[in-house]
Amino acid sequence: MKQTTKLIFELSHKGRVGIEAPHHDIPKAVPDKKINSAFLRNDIEGFPEVSEGEVLRHYTRLSDANFGVDNGFYPLGSCTMKYNPRVNEVTARLEGFAGLHPYQDTTLTQGALELISELEDDLLEITGMDAVTLQPAAGAQGELCGMLMVAKYFKDKGKPRRKVIIPDTAHGTNPASCNLAGFDVVRVASGKDGYLTAESIKKIMDRDTAALMLTNPNTLGLFEEDIEEIARIVHAKGGFVYCDGANLNALMGIARLGEMGVDLIQLNLHKTFSTPHGGGGPGSGPLAVKKKLAPYLPIPRVKRRGRKFTLDHTKGKSIGRLKAFYGNFSIMVRAYTYIKRMGVEGLTAVSKMAILNANYIKEALKKDYHLPFDTTCMHEAVFTDKLQNVDNVTTLDVAKRLIDYGYHPPTIYFPLVVDGAIMIEPTETESVETIDAFIATMKVIAEEARTTPKLLKDAPTTTGTFRVDETGAARTPILRWLPEK
Ligand SMILES: *Cc1c(COP(=O)(O)O)cnc(C)c1O
Repeated sequence: MKQTTKLIFELSHKGRVGIEAPHHDIPKAVPDKKINSAFLRNDIEGFPEVSEGEVLRHYTRLSDANFGVDNGFYPLGSCTMKYNPRVNEVTARLEGFAGLHPYQDTTLTQGALELISELEDDLLEITGMDAVTLQPAAGAQGELCGMLMVAKYFKDKGKPRRKVIIPDTAHGTNPASCNLAGFDVVRVASGKDGYLTAESIKKIMDRDTAALMLTNPNTLGLFEEDIEEIARIVHAKGGFVYCDGANLNALMGIARLGEMGVDLIQLNLHKTFSTPHGGGGPGSGPLAVKKKLAPYLPIPRVKRRGRKFTLDHTKGKSIGRLKAFYGNFSIMVRAYTYIKRMGVEGLTAVSKMAILNANYIKEALKKDYHLPFDTTCMHEAVFTDKLQNVDNVTTLDVAKRLIDYGYHPPTIYFPLVVDGAIMIEPTETESVETIDAFIATMKVIAEEARTTPKLLKDAPTTTGTFRVDETGAARTPILRWLPEK
């Protein structure tokens, strides 16, 4: 344990102050007579009284306890925890952007609207789609947006459809988004080698099915090679193909899903396009669609006429508003900066390097960890704990042991279709030295599993908190600190 971390409440000493307000001559407020005194309080029970220095040390210590891409390798599969270039922060902080007020008249926000419009164009170019909204605040909200649009499309035609097909290799948010949009989810199993087959879709696609929702590359890190044939089957029965494009890190500049029959696709700017990810900070999950669905996109829409930009609030067939104002604008500035800085060649190089790094790890570790699908992967590689199970060691033990060696564990037990999955996504922003060091550590852990499994069972031992009851923490969380009497 590095140091004892007390709660800020436990540091409290009666009467200690951090900041003294300057003297003022404003009379003390008399509580509004309209508010029942039962709802007013004189004091805040247990409110910490601490000095400025204690506050500073407390929060600096807490920030140090956090693990992020800025202090170590973070190979979290399906999440693209890549380095966020600092130039993004410089542009996002430009006064003209950072100081904007969302209620400002559009005659005063032309630059911001132009940036939004250009970012839209770039995302359309990257995906091969016709229209895009930047409103959704996360990938999952982009999915929901798309499924609401699909639902409204069929409702407006007077022929509502009930079902959406989702393969077992899809991301967990997909069925949730479909449910929220009112659809019944029909599950379909992927083929033996991890790919979705055209035959399996042919068998279940019917005229009550609104869409097929697939993740490509799928959560096994494989590119769905039959996507065009599958799209033809879905289209023949009047359905839409929705692609979860959160993991575009493998495809930029190489493949455009819009040219493969995809009708809707959401992107995660906080993954592929290097905007901050995690910590609950604002995200952005733009949704791009084909012409047929464009009228259903959320309002307002940014409209360009020559060099003049406006916000069009016409409702028409739109599903309406999804998010306050126009989404998380400062995130758009960051993604725009990234795209312009990289250019076509840069973005293509990103995807190629992301794929190369994942395959490099896959080849280097496949003797030490069982590889369920031994084919060329995209930007992530999925292993299992099958070889470690003989010594009673599981994926969780391997993940916890990685923490002792200074790594954030990869994604584990996901995708669900692989027992004991260990899903590693190195991203293109890591050096070969970092990746080699990680591979060497994974090999050491595989050796420890054979010779000293207790080291893995007890891990992590170098952290402030040891192994916790994760289910208990999720089911019966203690969210409130109560002052001791
Ligand atoms: C991360 C991810 C999502 C969800 O994105 P959020 O921004 O976390 O809502 C959906 N699908 C896939 C494939 C993902 O990797």
